[in-house]
Amino acid sequence: MEINLISERYKNDRVPAFELSDVQKEYVRRFAEKCESGEYSFRKRECECGKGDFEVIAQKDRYGLPVETVICRNCGLIMTNPCLDDKSNNSFYDGEYHYIYRAEEAPSEERFEERKKEAGTIIDFIQNHTGIDSGSVLEIGCADGGNIAAFAEKGYKATGIDLSHTYVEYGKEKGLDLYCSDATSFAQKGQQFDIVVLNHVLEHFTDLEKELSTITALMKDTGVLFVAVPGVKYLTFGAYERDFLLMLQNAHIFNFTKDTLCQTMKKYGFDSIFANEAVYALFKKGNPESSFSDHYTDTISYLKCVEESGGDVDTLMVHRVGSKLSECKKGDVLLYGTARELDALVQQLPDLTAIRGFFYTDRKTPEEVVEYMKCNGIHELVIIDVKNDKRIVGRISDLIEGSSIRFMSVYRELF
Ligand SMILES: [Zn+2]
Repeated sequence: MEINLISERYKNDRVPAFELSDVQKEYVRRFAEKCESGEYSFRKRECECGKGDFEVIAQKDRYGLPVETVICRNCGLIMTNPCLDDKSNNSFYDGEYHYIYRAEEAPSEERFEERKKEAGTIIDFIQNHTGIDSGSVLEIGCADGGNIAAFAEKGYKATGIDLSHTYVEYGKEKGLDLYCSDATSFAQKGQQFDIVVLNHVLEHFTDLEKELSTITALMKDTGVLFVAVPGVKYLTFGAYERDFLLMLQNAHIFNFTKDTLCQTMKKYGFDSIFANEAVYALFKKGNPESSFSDHYTDTISYLKCVEESGGDVDTLMVHRVGSKLSECKKGDVLLYGTARELDALVQQLPDLTAIRGFFYTDRKTPEEVVEYMKCNGIHELVIIDVKNDKRIVGRISDLIEGSSIRFMSVYRELF
């Protein structure tokens, strides 16, 4: 496999990307020992697109473990390859996982409350994009059940499953409907749900075909699947600090962008309802279709840009808009944003041929902008929305419904 490391920092020198706690160090040591003794074994993976032509972009993960991360040159999917086989993987999740990843020895009230609070965003997201605000919910990989508690408080009939005995027992003591089970065994009960939640879980699956067919069986025909995964193009999430190395961890089989997630899900019969680069996504049941586009160049050039600029937000915004413009036809893009940001951005863009013009948010309303685009046959709108003003984006989104206009919103918190 060809090696094309993002930078020298990604070579295998066993150095963790941040200071580990004593608990983490101990369990990283145990993990490495099991790998070396052969107690844990690894297997090579094929790409989801079926035409895996991989190159290695990292030789260690954030804990300094010697894990290889590859990108597919055909579709741009980023994966840990090789990865733990199923038996080793299950043992890892019941053993070292929680200690390495949560940096804590036992479930805690603090973490439970934190999770419960975070669940509010998920509940709102599902309601806003599907209109579903009641019914039954199943969370796969629910840990201590913090999310389940939040759903239950809002009146949903909420159930959770997880592989960690310790965490499931903790949540059960709080009266939550939790089971220590994998999805396949749980599905044998034959229950179907209105909402299935995979919150930072899908990226851990070693066998997507098996897991996603189980999930299909667990969903009602009218059901929706909520998926949150770390977004490769959204490095401000949690502790990633605009550093891709901090995102890499041996437990993550996949590192998705919005596009690589959606095309992978489509292969298994899930149609996207809504997805962003965060990545927060909603899917419904559809027909399986294998239509993979090439997201190699845009993903790798973005990652190199993050690395070279040290995660500088201005540089990343220019890069994001620049790659969008390079995909668009001559004169088919309108820019819309505040004068200050727009002027600064336009000066730095390498190629302006795709741009027809720009409007300032304090001079033109979303209605006027969309009307102008319709009258002039312009199809692409790029909103430079520094404050991430959801009213502008929401209004534009309503106005263009049913038309051939597409838009992209770029804002500072995106990076
Ligand atoms: Zn591929």
